[in-house]
Amino acid sequence: MFIIDAHLDLSMNALEWNRDLQKPVAEINEREEGMTDKPDRAKGVVSLPELRKGNIGLVVGTQIARYVAPGNPLPGWHSPEQAWAQTQGQAAWYKAMEDAGEMVQINNFESLDKHISLWFNGQPNDAKPVGYILSLEGADSIVTIKHLERAYNYGLRAVGPAHYGPGRYAQGTDAIGFMGQVGHELLKEMERLNIILDATHLCDDSFWEALDHFNGHVWASHNNCRALVNHNRQYSDEQIKELVKRGAVIGAALDAWMMVPGWVRGQSDPKEMNCSLEVMIDHVDHICQLAGNSMHVGIGSDLDGAFGREQCPYDLETIADLQKIPTLLKKRGYSETDMENMMHGNWLRFLRNAWV
Ligand SMILES: [Zn+2]
Repeated sequence: MFIIDAHLDLSMNALEWNRDLQKPVAEINEREEGMTDKPDRAKGVVSLPELRKGNIGLVVGTQIARYVAPGNPLPGWHSPEQAWAQTQGQAAWYKAMEDAGEMVQINNFESLDKHISLWFNGQPNDAKPVGYILSLEGADSIVTIKHLERAYNYGLRAVGPAHYGPGRYAQGTDAIGFMGQVGHELLKEMERLNIILDATHLCDDSFWEALDHFNGHVWASHNNCRALVNHNRQYSDEQIKELVKRGAVIGAALDAWMMVPGWVRGQSDPKEMNCSLEVMIDHVDHICQLAGNSMHVGIGSDLDGAFGREQCPYDLETIADLQKIPTLLKKRGYSETDMENMMHGNWLRFLRNAWV
């Protein structure tokens, strides 16, 4: 079945992890044997050949660069200009992948339709470029509001105003507080440019404020449920209901700590914690029960978000194993239409509606 994954940090992996994503996952991992600079070395699960193998023909690919004020312990750049420059390198990597015929940017109704026809033409996927919709995870790198239009012009179509911690435009995961005047200006400019608001990572205060002030299209690219794993990074039932009301689609994330309660980073083991793809269905099912239908859930795996096999479902060896999900959904009683909705249909409907 055709799959859309609404959250991958591909360019971050290419440039900060030094992964050549044109290579098979096994080859990338082999070259990382013995490296200890990052917890997921030699444990990667995402690359372009694996996406094709898994019939994952369209992804939302991020740019990501945080600004940190003095005293902020999170990793990040010391000025917004440096963060902007980092995202420009990331944009250049996506362009290089386009030049190599590996990827193609999807940024409007026409390019989306053309791309979907290509991936549904019954031919093998080997020669098909993986489509990407460009998104910005955390808006710190938008130096001034004017920079947003510059980014729109090279293809930016979705923005999550915050990531982890305090942000310049909104407060993110593990932080608290509101967006303030400059945050409102960002939302206004996003609305003018028809940029999708990614509500993922907004802290509760900023989440409600953003939804109050933004009249454009809202999605949540990678988010699980607070009712199942209690953490501020996850959505409360109230938030899920509000997103459903707004026509949002919520992407199910495959980061183990967001799937099973009690996960300890760097210590817990997926098998011991019983973290399988089945657990993802619990989160998906929770959202479907709240919505009363299967129209508001998709995949937003985050499978290359600074973790790999050490922190993802044990029955997933590479991202191609997302193809196991439809069978699991069927086992839970979901219909063929429900499965199609969740694997690609909901994101497609959302995008067509946003870009019409
Ligand atoms: Zn994230």
